[in-house]
Amino acid sequence: MTFTTRFAPSPTGPLHLGHAYSALLAHDMARAENGTFLLRIEDIDQSRARAAWETQIYDDLKWLGISWDAAPVRQSDQMIRYSTALETLYDRDLIYPCSCNRRDIQSALSAPQEGAVLPTGPDGLIYPGTCAPKRFANHTTPRDPAAVYRFATADAAHRFGTPCNDDMCLSFTETGHGPNDQTGTISVSSRAIPQTIGDIVIARRDMGTSYHLSVVLDDADQDITHVIRGADLFDATAIHVILQKSLGLPTPIYHHHALVRDDSGKRLAKRDDARAISKYRAEGATLDDIRHLVGL
Ligand code: GLU
Repeated sequence: MTFTTRFAPSPTGPLHLGHAYSALLAHDMARAENGTFLLRIEDIDQSRARAAWETQIYDDLKWLGISWDAAPVRQSDQMIRYSTALETLYDRDLIYPCSCNRRDIQSALSAPQEGAVLPTGPDGLIYPGTCAPKRFANHTTPRDPAAVYRFATADAAHRFGTPCNDDMCLSFTETGHGPNDQTGTISVSSRAIPQTIGDIVIARRDMGTSYHLSVVLDDADQDITHVIRGADLFDATAIHVILQKSLGLPTPIYHHHALVRDDSGKRLAKRDDARAISKYRAEGATLDDIRHLVGL
């Protein structure tokens, strides 16, 4: 299959040097492989997405010498596909409605161990499973499109994994590096999931989907063979692989890269306008200057 990768920015602020690095690296790798480079606008959070930021993404990428090989996909145009996939997960008893708010989760987590540091995973606090009993209770009720749903990650991994060390595991290939230098074949064990990931939110009330569900469905829909993205998303990859298996989708190869950091070692944030590509452009920087700054 042709090497196919993508750059998937959210139009919620200016692209900065970190985005430039990610986009240039993915574009360079696609071109070196005679492959395909695609663009996806991840705008499911309509409360934060702005058309003006999307326009600026196109301008900045063109200025960076990046060309994409098909019309960009906009996630806000894909909502029906997301809700169809949620229906499948619901039919498979893999998601359940949940009404817990952050305070409920905090108090459930701290009850047995007052004052202890609360466990966190790729999506923040690890959900203690308060609503999990609702998973099978709702069999006969249709899915409520307005409710928050959680994904029974450990059970899904157990159901769709293969035997490994008295457990069930899923795995993916990492050709880059996770934040702790993880590389090669990465194994995700179903027994560890309740402590490391928990039942994450798969459909948010305000969006009817989540980053995890949309990214997995769109990578499959766009036939992505290689996902190239920042190491901050390495831990979320376990969730993506479990979802892929649960929905019968292929798992691409993952290549996580180091994050561009500011002078004090902090990763760049959207609000870090000082490192916005548009600012470098306005100051007369060249593409070579940007490549040099990000180490390409
Ligand atoms: N939309 C995500 C971001 O802007 C990237 C998601 C991905 O590459 O998987 O950070």
